Amino acid sequence: MKDINFKTVFNDIFIELQPLENKGVAASYIPELAKIDPDKLGIHLVHVDKGNFYQGDSQERFSIQSISKVFSLTLAMRIIGSELWSRVGVEPSGTAFNSLIQLEVENGIPRNPFINAGAIVICDVLMSYLDNPKVDLLNFVRKIANNQNLQYNEKVAESEKLTSDRNKALIYLMRDFGNIHNDVDEVLDLYFYLCSIEMNCCELAHSFMFLVTGGVDLTSGEMIVNPSQAKRINAVMQLCGFYDEAGEFAFKVGLPGKSGVGGGIVALHPGKYAVAVWSPRLNKKGNSYMGMKVLELLTTKMEDSIF
Ligand code: GLU
Repeated sequence: MKDINFKTVFNDIFIELQPLENKGVAASYIPELAKIDPDKLGIHLVHVDKGNFYQGDSQERFSIQSISKVFSLTLAMRIIGSELWSRVGVEPSGTAFNSLIQLEVENGIPRNPFINAGAIVICDVLMSYLDNPKVDLLNFVRKIANNQNLQYNEKVAESEKLTSDRNKALIYLMRDFGNIHNDVDEVLDLYFYLCSIEMNCCELAHSFMFLVTGGVDLTSGEMIVNPSQAKRINAVMQLCGFYDEAGEFAFKVGLPGKSGVGGGIVALHPGKYAVAVWSPRLNKKGNSYMGMKVLELLTTKMEDSIF
């Protein structure tokens, strides 16, 4: 990586992208998300040696939606290890995040843990092992974020519950194939709460640092996952973190990462940094329009991706 002044680079990127600030449309299929100001834009980068750099609305919390699926996957891997991979695959889906198509032909085994079907199966696994699934899951996220103030947004979770036909179709189809072991309403409830977690860019970037360090929490020194598990989570993010646009993200940005329909994206360079961006307007594939552009310009200007 070039010796880089992040502050200047962030400034340049924000100016360069100003003409595109109206591109894309914020998610409205979850009514509560449609209330967010679509013009927010924030970034926060944590570098292992150089510290913290940020710009814009980086301190404002938003609905992290599918980004939280990295946390649920991490917790499930900690609990049942590689047994997990008999319930969910590790292949890119190439279809929309809420698609039913592959489940029918692949016997109810979702392609990966980051599409809705896969994350619902992960929630089913967590239901089987946790005493108080909602509380325990939130506590785990608080632990890896080193932040006891993180919360679910109940309005967002309830809003999603009211518009959940697609997720219901997914879970019933998987139950028919024997891949759901708990009460469907309880599993979906956990899933909706998982998606409703709110964080800001600063909190998100810090919470992904254990995947930069090969599994170690930099603050406590605790091993969150072992190096092999960290490698696997990063690999799944690289291949499956952007719905059916994972190839495009690898092509343009060149980092493992995960997006959510709230407009957030987290990406990381193992051994170096984690970066979170937030801009609610989404492109046609459901990824933040500006978020993708910001990260593309960032790795281009830094001359530093994993490739
Ligand atoms: N809660 C959203 C849903 O189930 C997650 C979508 C996403 O961020 O990919 O549709």
